[in-house]
Amino acid sequence: MDLTKLKRESLCVQAGWQPKNGEARVLPVFQSTTFKYDDTEQMADLFDLKASGYFYTRLQNPTNDAVASKIAALEGGVAGMLTSSGQAANFYAVFNICEAGDHFIATNDIYGGTFNLFGVTLKKLGIECTFIDSECTDEELDAAFRPNTKCVFGETLSNPGCKVFDIERFANAAHKHGVPLIVDNTFATPINCRPFEWGADIVTHSTTKYMDGHATAVGGVIVDSGNFDWEANADKFPGLCEPDPSYHGLAYTKAFGKMAFITKATAQLMRDLGSIQSPQNAFLLNLGLETLHLRMPQHCKNAQAVAEYLENHPKVAWVNYCGLKSNKYYELGQKYVPNGSCGVMAFGLKGTREQAIQFMDSLDMICIVTHVADARTCVLHPASHTHRQLSEEQLKAAGIAPDLIRLSVGIENVQDIIADIEQALEKI
Ligand SMILES: *Cc1c(COP(=O)(O)O)cnc(C)c1O
Repeated sequence: MDLTKLKRESLCVQAGWQPKNGEARVLPVFQSTTFKYDDTEQMADLFDLKASGYFYTRLQNPTNDAVASKIAALEGGVAGMLTSSGQAANFYAVFNICEAGDHFIATNDIYGGTFNLFGVTLKKLGIECTFIDSECTDEELDAAFRPNTKCVFGETLSNPGCKVFDIERFANAAHKHGVPLIVDNTFATPINCRPFEWGADIVTHSTTKYMDGHATAVGGVIVDSGNFDWEANADKFPGLCEPDPSYHGLAYTKAFGKMAFITKATAQLMRDLGSIQSPQNAFLLNLGLETLHLRMPQHCKNAQAVAEYLENHPKVAWVNYCGLKSNKYYELGQKYVPNGSCGVMAFGLKGTREQAIQFMDSLDMICIVTHVADARTCVLHPASHTHRQLSEEQLKAAGIAPDLIRLSVGIENVQDIIADIEQALEKI
């Protein structure tokens, strides 16, 4: 089957597991840590990366590989690697490029966990991050680059601010400085946006969100477009271009070409750091992916109706959803997510922070959960929950107003969603 001919909807269902004659039609869970070989030589070749095959699930597992290749096909990339979480995906994506003494640039509106990973934890490893406003001028962006800058990072749709990232502009700036652009495409999913088509080089996801879609399994993935020319800037990327002493002097770019990035992430980072996705979780993720193309349009349709309802409600101060014509990000949304962004929006109520909390506590069908982007409509107050660790100043810098309520619209009947919001608004 030539997957390159299939459209996204078909890839959701058909890509990944390709059974041979007599094998299980449905992707099995390879619940095995180890794989058997007939002689020493075959196993030795696997260890030396001379042959490809399975030997230990920390490095590769057939269930995980099938799911990673489905996501790679959906994004239009050359290869993918599953990770235990979205956090691990973003850590590995950056750490596969940067080492102590390096610097990179990220937009300041990214997910709170990623913001902390980049600003605090990576700093302890000697990697420095400059956070910039995604709406900075071209000059400001240009000025953020340093001689030791190794990559740029942004989110297609920021969590929780719901800003739209100008992928093409940031890709151009990154490439001008000889470094790749990494895009966290969690909220848009490849159904609504494929960042590689706009010049991004590497895509990451928290598969925990829409890809799983049922809130059953925490996971992440990194996909490489295969487009970035590491060798053209070899002095910047010694980890990819120079011999790796832990593989007898093998250089990833020379040995693996377009597969260099994912091979290094797997053979080196996953080998040493070990944040693998369990095959059981990969199996659940695959079930979610099979209906991603059906769920995303429903999330968008429902969210559009809810956003319009909120925008017209007298007790609502503001709504941020790029599907609204009045929205600051409407134009960018039309460019990058013309068929709809996702089910997540941010809004604020007129009144006090206590009233916002009262509103949320009055919801009935809609639950307060830390999670976002699954089948069930849910709500969260970032300043009290996910972003608690940020100071008032950091909250402001991340574009999170203290009154911001994050609403993740699910795939229930939209009249039921609106009715629940309405009765809760009546109580304040
Ligand atoms: C949730 C999320 C993450 C972190 O993913 P986990 O799977 O929770 O580790 C990273 N980026 C974005 C945009 C997210 O929404």
